Amino acid sequence: MLKGKIALVTGGGRGIGREIALALAKEGAFVIVNYNGSKERAQETVREIEKAGGSGTAVGCDVADFTACGDMIQNLIKEYEHIDILVNNAGITRDNLLMRMSEEDFDTVIQVNLKGCFNTIRHLSRYFLKRRSGKIINISSVVGVVGNAGQANYCASKAGVIGLTKSAARELGSRGITVNAIAPGFIETEMTQDLSENLKDSMIQQTLLRRSGTAADVARAAVFLASEGADYITGQVISVDGGMAL
Ligand code: NAP
Repeated sequence: MLKGKIALVTGGGRGIGREIALALAKEGAFVIVNYNGSKERAQETVREIEKAGGSGTAVGCDVADFTACGDMIQNLIKEYEHIDILVNNAGITRDNLLMRMSEEDFDTVIQVNLKGCFNTIRHLSRYFLKRRSGKIINISSVVGVVGNAGQANYCASKAGVIGLTKSAARELGSRGITVNAIAPGFIETEMTQDLSENLKDSMIQQTLLRRSGTAADVARAAVFLASEGADYITGQVISVDGGMAL
């Protein structure tokens, strides 16, 4: 389905990003697995892609760094000539109640989760525009739509990702480029592993399907949005949340 396509997945070494990288590769895409702190896990993801008969490479870059993102993308284009699919998956949390949240924790989450998406889109979109094609998939969150106590920084960043997605879709649509967001619900990854059992139970109770989601649940939606099947879908926020936000 994605033979001949080249995909860049930020934060592709672990969690949801890793599953998206594996799923895109399974469909035939060459996958560039970006990492920041987890070099070995990104390399391990590439090995797993290769074991399954696919191909890819691991590339380090802090998505929050505008210049470093520009350099990464320029180097990738030099080496591979084009990138067809961008998945902005990298994200962090620094949870606290607003009253106690430090300025640094607010800024850092915005820098990685929101500005990180801007940085890659800003640098890659000119190549997409030249080719008059490209698929951008931004990972937002259900809490970017409904908010969450204790996560004002994270929710603001994820709501920002939705605004960025819709604006980019408006700017790039006339050149055949689609821009969509995925809003996952409660997905079991390292990001959520330290939440209390009580909180996890309560989130599952709020989920119509009465279970947490898996990274693979999100990856299937990303593969769809990256495929020709989604050619006429842009500016949308696809919930992959088991009905949590209904
Ligand atoms: P995770 O397991 O904590 O993984 C986070 C990923 O982001 C890692 O691969 C990490 O790479 C990467 N990352 C963090 N800072 C980065 C930076 N500055 N530059 C490049 N990469 C960076 O989290 P996850 O659950 O898979 O989350 C993936 C995405 O889904 C995030 O955007 C998250 O907000 C979103 N999401 C998750 C859930 C959930 O319930 N888990 C729900 C809704 C949305 P390194 O280790 O290499 O730094």
